Amino acid sequence: MTKKKIVIVGSSFAGYTAALELYDRLGSSHSITVIDRKPNFLFMPSLIWYPFGLREEEDLSYDVRQSYSNRGIQFIQTEVLSFNPETQIVNTKEGEIVYDYLVIATGPKADYDYIPGLREHTHSILGVPAAQESRTAWEKLLENPGPVVVVSPQGAACFGAAYEFLFNARHQVGKHKLADQIKFTYVSAEPFPSHFGIGGFANGEFLTKQFFRLYNIDSRFNTSVASFEEDGVRLNTGEFIPSRFTFAMPRFLGVDAVRNSPNLANASGWIEVDDGYRHRQYPNIYAAGVAIQVDPPSSTDVPCGVPKTGYPSEEMAKVVAHNIAVDINGGERKALPYGDIAALCIMDAGNMGMMILGDKMLPNRHFEVILPGPQAHWAKIGFEKYFLNMLERSTTPHKVPL
Ligand SMILES: Cc1cc2nc3c(=O)[nH]c(=O)nc-3n(C[C@H](O)[C@H](O)[C@H](O)COP(=O)(O)OP(=O)(O)OC[C@H]3O[C@@H](n4cnc5c(N)ncnc54)[C@H](O)[C@@H]3O)c2cc1C
Repeated sequence: MTKKKIVIVGSSFAGYTAALELYDRLGSSHSITVIDRKPNFLFMPSLIWYPFGLREEEDLSYDVRQSYSNRGIQFIQTEVLSFNPETQIVNTKEGEIVYDYLVIATGPKADYDYIPGLREHTHSILGVPAAQESRTAWEKLLENPGPVVVVSPQGAACFGAAYEFLFNARHQVGKHKLADQIKFTYVSAEPFPSHFGIGGFANGEFLTKQFFRLYNIDSRFNTSVASFEEDGVRLNTGEFIPSRFTFAMPRFLGVDAVRNSPNLANASGWIEVDDGYRHRQYPNIYAAGVAIQVDPPSSTDVPCGVPKTGYPSEEMAKVVAHNIAVDINGGERKALPYGDIAALCIMDAGNMGMMILGDKMLPNRHFEVILPGPQAHWAKIGFEKYFLNMLERSTTPHKVPL
């Protein structure tokens, strides 16, 4: 059999998992190449603690090159510019790379240009540079306290991280004994608290309202933002909420390399795949993680995206690896619709939180529960340590799979 060339673009939750799973299935009988603009796997869930000085970049990132080279997987550090599905070529800053099978695991691009002032007047934690900028602004706020507004604007999907930042920031303010000087408001496209873009989850609405009451957090739901301004947030209703520190998790789009490639993705840059994560038009292209299109389970007055979190990203990547191995060696393909992947998440709130467990990401679920309390905070820290330890141990092939 001729050696097939499998190219994976993106080396994070989805891409790294796909590469290791493909190696486990195919060994060295075929060539596996991973492309990413950076060699470090960044554990993004812990960026919620970065602005408060609780984590540094080196605490959260792991260089995966040794892991690849120990398996004979080629890693190319470069920027992908576009894909040509017809000629089966990936165009990079370093030149063209040909593939037989392609896995697109490029995650999202945050859109900072769809609401006036979003780029100039908000802080975020989308990557270390943004989290560092937020830390500087946060430290200034503690010196000169004033109102804080946390926003999940129209089209947002990463609601969990916005809630986590909100509750952690409020916890920090309490620790600094500034609770009477820093008033918090949460503004969201969601129709109700903890809708999360997925129609809600178990008793999440009730629990989130309790958290808001406990922490004295004001809120506006079902709300669009007209503009972010230097001293506050203007809502579409005309209301102006004053702010000295505005945090926003904007809507996501597919990355430029995907959007620059004709016929690859929909207008938002998301890749339309079947339940085996194969491209609907090109059978040798697969996608996993945030890069895929997931339709909202129900419509909302203000548009909400569907969150595509870490665990589902890994599960999709495992299905992709299985199906590529089947394409090459034969066997039975797997199908696992996004909505049927188990929901496993922890929402941290500083010194407590919520453990979110369900048999499915999207309704209808047979089982769904949210467990609030301090154990959720410790579970989140425990999971961070476990995950980063697993990354390190996964350097050695066949010892510890992710
Ligand atoms: C602040 C924050 C907190 C979060 N908290 C949680 C949480 O608590 N629990 C949870 O389950 N999920 C959480 N998530 C979501 C989780 O981080 C994502 O689900 C996960 O990162 C998706 O993995 P991915 O591999 O699809 O994409 P990404 O992690 O975004 O990785 C994409 C990779 O592709 C590379 N890439 C992209 N374009 C190119 C290009 N053109 N050329 C070369 N390389 C490219 C990037 O460098 C990157 O390494 C959080 C996300 C954020 C932002």
